[in-house]
Amino acid sequence: MAVSLDQKRIALETFLQDHTNIKYVTPAAPEFSSLKATYNLTITATPLAIVRPQSSNDVAALVSYCTTHGIQFSVRSGGNNLYGASCVQDALMVDMRDIAFVDIDKEKSSARVGGGILQGKLAKELSKEGLVTAMGSLGFVGFIGWGCYGGYGSLSAKYGLGVDNILAAKVVNWNGEIVDADEEMMKGIRGAGGAFGVIVELTVKVYPLKSILAGMIVFDSQDITSVYQSYNAGYQTLLDEGLSPALSSQQMVVNSPNGRAFAVGIIWSSDDHDAGRAELAKIEALGTVVMNTVGPTTVADYMDILSTQIPSSAYGACQTLSIRKLNNETTAIMSRNFEKMPSSFGTAFTIHELRGPSAAPKSNSVFGLREPHFMLEFISTVAKEEDEKESREWATNFRKELLQMKPENLLPGTYISLTPPGVTPLSKIYGPDSNYETLLELKQKYDPHNVFNLAVPKFYEQ
Ligand SMILES: Cc1cc2nc3c(=O)[nH]c(=O)nc-3n(C[C@H](O)[C@H](O)[C@H](O)COP(=O)(O)OP(=O)(O)OC[C@H]3O[C@@H](n4cnc5c(N)ncnc54)[C@H](O)[C@@H]3O)c2cc1C
Repeated sequence: MAVSLDQKRIALETFLQDHTNIKYVTPAAPEFSSLKATYNLTITATPLAIVRPQSSNDVAALVSYCTTHGIQFSVRSGGNNLYGASCVQDALMVDMRDIAFVDIDKEKSSARVGGGILQGKLAKELSKEGLVTAMGSLGFVGFIGWGCYGGYGSLSAKYGLGVDNILAAKVVNWNGEIVDADEEMMKGIRGAGGAFGVIVELTVKVYPLKSILAGMIVFDSQDITSVYQSYNAGYQTLLDEGLSPALSSQQMVVNSPNGRAFAVGIIWSSDDHDAGRAELAKIEALGTVVMNTVGPTTVADYMDILSTQIPSSAYGACQTLSIRKLNNETTAIMSRNFEKMPSSFGTAFTIHELRGPSAAPKSNSVFGLREPHFMLEFISTVAKEEDEKESREWATNFRKELLQMKPENLLPGTYISLTPPGVTPLSKIYGPDSNYETLLELKQKYDPHNVFNLAVPKFYEQ
């Protein structure tokens, strides 16, 4: 006989009487809706309940309880999976956000961080010691969710992707045991994150960096086609000549209060600001600058600024594609689509770049995109629900048009964190060099009963 949701909650409450450290929030509780809220407002799923473990032991007890009692559970940190993976109808949401410690080693070369740490808190804790690690730009994004599936960010050219900075992990496995991941499991965690267990602790590399130059350069965008194409022709020349790995430039086309604008987000990740300004001048020379906010700051302070400027929730999601070159063919297709871009706030396009040694093949990770490339983000995360359909259709058509370009410019795989479930098979995402086969073997070995079936990536959809 099927067990009702109420019966599941009653049994869970009995279990929790012996685990009083674990915070418990039912759908009837006033704080439930704010705690369950995820980035994508289109996701309206209601979990069975929310539990907030305070320690690895709490997580181990929860996993054991769920597997013994046939309770489905999702793991949530920042809640920013764009397709609602961490908030699942009738599944128990294991909210990791209270496990958020940061423990820096004596040599200041690595840090142990809790499985629910958000990027903003991590940046602040490291900043107190004049340190940074590879991170994305927004404080409200979960560090484990960001880093374990790839982790593109403005420090990537210098320090590598998120996955490349993970040294070790402590995991609650399918059997409810707390284990130190061995090298084989680590290879899987670096690219497929929570597929093998709940990550209760990561050890990551940290680097000395006291201050950076950061800000936005906005170019005169009245003629979007000509500014975009000439910027990218010039940028390609800069890449060919060799740009410093400390310079990160993320180009974007956005709807601003003054209309559609082409802008470039800049981070110079070195304390040598004179060298940074010289490198920055090369970018400024690629168009007519109408606004330039680049100035000295810290990674943590800049993350704070961006996190207040970019909404922490929106309707809709993103799509992605990874390409080798921003050549004339691609920038022509892109410009054509900028001309058609809906004016809704939140509709946008941006490009993350992976270059230099950071893009070289690595054998200690199943992450699939290992060559210099541009990861394109077609953004239809809008402020008003009624704008979502038009924005999504624009993004979908834009992406489809790019898929028609010369095939040698397309990477076979896409970035899993921005790939809607069911669009690209996992065999393509994890792609070359038998990564996918390795991933399947690791899943079979470390999660033989598919206990973590709601984790990203989802194997059963294949
Ligand atoms: C506004 C926004 C900006 C973004 N910017 C970037 C960017 O610059 N670069 C980039 O690479 N990506 C970016 N992303 C994508 C983002 O990194 C991923 O969606 C990431 O997985 C979000 O992690 P989270 O913890 O916030 O989300 P959650 O929804 O909480 O987690 C996502 C999934 O990660 C797994 N997970 C999380 N924590 C754990 C854990 N402790 N143990 C086991 N599994 C766990 C679970 O399977 C969960 O379903 C962005 C997303 C958004 C919405």
